[in-house]
Amino acid sequence: MENMPGGTVVTTSLEKVLNESRASSLWYLLFGTACCAIEMMCAGASRYDFDRFGMFFRASPRQADLMFVAGTITHKMAPRVKLLYEQMAEPRYVIAMGGCACSGGPFYYDTYAVLKGVDQIIPVDVFLPGCPPRPESLMEACIKVQQKVKKEKLQDWSSDRRG
Ligand code: SF4
Repeated sequence: MENMPGGTVVTTSLEKVLNESRASSLWYLLFGTACCAIEMMCAGASRYDFDRFGMFFRASPRQADLMFVAGTITHKMAPRVKLLYEQMAEPRYVIAMGGCACSGGPFYYDTYAVLKGVDQIIPVDVFLPGCPPRPESLMEACIKVQQKVKKEKLQDWSSDRRG
């Protein structure tokens, strides 16, 4: 901000304006299974009020920037999770909510059918451990995604950014 004769001028960059706008309007797609999905649904209800972050649920991956993967993901479900992720436009972000989505959780040792972490099939931006994590924790994870978005460069927008 600079003081000029007759007023004040604000200078910024296009990148900052775009990043602030994107961070303040993250529209999310739900992939909820098992117990963690109940906490995720609770986070979207009026008590926690995600809308105040500019975050809205979208039923279509093509309109979503952020995917919540909450709950136990089996190997049978894994291709659907990957397909939905690939249908989202770039730049896109993922939160793995709960021990199951992060690493297989309590099923890590007990079953061959559960994926040992959703990061085995799609890139994950924030891992949120817990069994289940509370809605407040999911909100904190969303704030971490917002902080990440605000620091990004335009060239980071493609999925190639993750190598
Ligand atoms: S992490 Fe715990 S609460 Fe969440 S889906 Fe797995 S078993 Fe259920």
